[in-house]
Amino acid sequence: MDDLSNAYPTHDPEWVRDMHADHYLQSWSKQGSRPRVITGAQGSWFWDSDGKRYLDFQSQLVNANLGHQHPKIIQAIKDQADKLCYISPAMGSDVRSELAAIMNEITPDNITSTFFTTGGSAANETAIRVARHYTGRTKIIARYRSYHGATGGALSLTGDPRHHLTRADMPGIVRMLDPYVYRLPTGHTDPAKCPVAQGGPHLEELLMYENPNTVAAVILEPIVGTNGIIVPPEGYLQSIKATCEKYGILLIADEVMAGFGRTGKWFAVDHWGVQPDIITSAKGINSGYVPLGTMSVSTEIHDWLRDTPLPGGLTYAGHPLACASGVAAIRAMQEEDTLAHATAMGETLRTELHRLAEKHPCIGDIRGKGMFNGIELVKNRDTREPLVPFAAKGDAAKPMNDMMGYAMNNGLYLSFFSNVIRLTPPLNISQEDLMTGIEILDRTLEIADKDCN
Ligand code: PMP
Repeated sequence: MDDLSNAYPTHDPEWVRDMHADHYLQSWSKQGSRPRVITGAQGSWFWDSDGKRYLDFQSQLVNANLGHQHPKIIQAIKDQADKLCYISPAMGSDVRSELAAIMNEITPDNITSTFFTTGGSAANETAIRVARHYTGRTKIIARYRSYHGATGGALSLTGDPRHHLTRADMPGIVRMLDPYVYRLPTGHTDPAKCPVAQGGPHLEELLMYENPNTVAAVILEPIVGTNGIIVPPEGYLQSIKATCEKYGILLIADEVMAGFGRTGKWFAVDHWGVQPDIITSAKGINSGYVPLGTMSVSTEIHDWLRDTPLPGGLTYAGHPLACASGVAAIRAMQEEDTLAHATAMGETLRTELHRLAEKHPCIGDIRGKGMFNGIELVKNRDTREPLVPFAAKGDAAKPMNDMMGYAMNNGLYLSFFSNVIRLTPPLNISQEDLMTGIEILDRTLEIADKDCN
């Protein structure tokens, strides 16, 4: 066999870029990119092979809720690796039981048991099947401005343009409109009089045509993440839940992005005291250090599952390394009072954004809760004409891409979808780092201001 010891240098950035471009397939992207090579990270910062540092205002894919390299999570993974790396999902395991017990503790009172997955897609995939079997019905109602994952069923639920890539969606998906108060449906200006922003009335109208007895579940992101940080108006979720209850339809809250303190509470539904029948989560549960997701169900569904097999399973369900990291991350958030810090930092961030709006005409709307925030950019505040069209990419999204490039070159990692910049720093970011990010954002927004009229 050839001596490969020199063929795989680990520290030459050019080699890393070559292999990335020629042999690595990257999610949702055209291939062949030659990215910055990231060599380390700590807290709210990461750095590249040139030693340049970046402030992570995204928490990567909105998953590093406790920032990078949190010592308690790393220690838990190491300890578990020494003890037991893998045991089949049917076996008892202390970290598995401990994480299940913690989930029971922090989810709404009606949610009492959890199936562990490898991420958000698998969690939603399982949730749909549970809902269909439990109700004996087929249809699932999902919203347009949504992302629920990349696997067959989860991508079919997804409303953003990526779902067109399924070519043929899983049958039985019905769509409803979003409570997007800044852009209400045509003809509406007052959310209080708009059935879509109210929730229940819009759902009820759909059900009149769909026949409620065929609908298993409504799935929604309580606060929309990827598709623009859309916070529902007061009463929306309660109204949806009441309508679901009226017709025996389950409510599935996809908390993959919004969960685990991101909005300042354990789950976004907690802001409105709504108890979904199923909650799915991933990402912030362990800050993404090891793949992990959850599908947690109500006591009623759990009781039903005592007599009926769970319609789903994974080799890595309840993986010990993942469960150990989840236990450590949630305990760290409790010990470090992370939710209170996220609430306070979120308020500071939005106050600063309102200050920036006084000098940047491109800022049309500021939305968010806790550390889950977005600014919607427009060409004109009066007409609300978006800075770039819905789901724009490439040249069509030029000012957005220019801003991301400028921010990155100036040490700030940001992301966008359509005309919305998401601002989702680690929950434990320091006030000083937060202000550093805002200062770079301030300069970045001058790029969009040039397109304002
Ligand atoms: N649901 C939501 C709300 C998400 O934001 C995501 C990921 N961005 C998913 C589901 C899919 O999760 P995963 O990529 O872990 O499969």
